Amino acid sequence: MSLLIKNGLVIDPQNHTEAVMDLLIDGGVIKKAEPEIVAPDAEVYDASGKVVAPGLVDLHVHFREPGLEYKEDITSGSHAAAKGGVTTVVCMPNTKPVVDNAALVKYVINRGKEVGLINVLTAGCISKGQKGAELSEIGELAAAGAVAVSDDGRPVVSSSLMRKALEYAKMFDIPVFSHSEDLELVDNGSMNEGYMSTVLGLRGIPKAAESVAVSRDVLIAKQVGGRLHVCHVSTRDSIEAIRAAKKCGVHVTAETAPHYFTLTDRACDGFNTNAKMNPPLRDEDDIAAVIEGLQDGTIDAIATDHAPHHRDEKELEFEQASNGIVGLETSLGLGVTYLVKTGKLTLCQLIEKMSTVPAQIIGFDRGTLGIGKIADIVVFDPDATYTVDVSKFESKGKNSPYDGFQLYGRVDMTITGGKIVYRNTEY
Ligand SMILES: [Zn+2]
Repeated sequence: MSLLIKNGLVIDPQNHTEAVMDLLIDGGVIKKAEPEIVAPDAEVYDASGKVVAPGLVDLHVHFREPGLEYKEDITSGSHAAAKGGVTTVVCMPNTKPVVDNAALVKYVINRGKEVGLINVLTAGCISKGQKGAELSEIGELAAAGAVAVSDDGRPVVSSSLMRKALEYAKMFDIPVFSHSEDLELVDNGSMNEGYMSTVLGLRGIPKAAESVAVSRDVLIAKQVGGRLHVCHVSTRDSIEAIRAAKKCGVHVTAETAPHYFTLTDRACDGFNTNAKMNPPLRDEDDIAAVIEGLQDGTIDAIATDHAPHHRDEKELEFEQASNGIVGLETSLGLGVTYLVKTGKLTLCQLIEKMSTVPAQIIGFDRGTLGIGKIADIVVFDPDATYTVDVSKFESKGKNSPYDGFQLYGRVDMTITGGKIVYRNTEY
């Protein structure tokens, strides 16, 4: 089947393209991108006024399969991704059991293929059982298709183990995704330490719990090499540590999540457990630092840390509630609304951080609309608004602090491998 997308604003950061033109997809690949393409046999989609961009690549999602399918599974997660314009995800391995062997890596990848909506990739564990003691067989994980290693959900407490992980992962040319957190500094805190934690009477988590761990990780990477990728960066000091490391030539990349440039810890007011996450929501100064980091390239990517939970795990006292929010169905809208419409980033820069660069970080040949490339595409309207309604989420998780928000950047169509996997029929 061939598809002709007409008159869209085609944005391809990798090829420095940003122009209104037509795009012809045939045999699953991009055949042509030029004005006024004639293709009599193709299905025609009119994208006037819309953006045609490479499908989003989300480096950090929790699809909860195997073992925690009551929260999410690869089917529901894939549908949520497709609805959000996301055509590739990297699943974190903190499932039940954890993905610390080749068989489970293959299981996740194959389940994604069976569902057949998006590219479901996975990280494997850094340590066996995510226990932080013994390195997993990183070579076997990589051979089975793991695109990274991570103990996400938990930090690698042992500096020596982090060193070994970077050294081994380097041999197989995959990055180490670090959930950088100093658990002693966290000290059972449940939200950012500051005015709001005092008001709410909750134990706070100091910003240093993140920045101390990020600093350690970049210093180890500086010493031993390897590719360090810092997950969900949320504080000014973490960003400054990464900026300084990049200046010294350390191979470090970083991601942040939309909640770290859109919300502060004030969202926890009223003990709102849908604003409880790890790292916790910070303050205005950190939001400013995250945006500066995105602007100057210190932060390479925007990932969602999509973390679905069952309602019962959120309808608890704040301290007891699970950490995390769902993000796949709001990430593009939040990026367009809070970064592009405010003039902080251009549309091209946003797409670079949500597609092109994350694809490069994991060495996956996507994130571009080059001729001959596999047609993973998102078509969205940057000027159309929509209201977030969690009851309509494809994700099993409804734990989002954005319910009722008006956002720009409505996703109208998502294409994976030349196949339409989502079409917005609501307008
Ligand atoms: Zn994490």
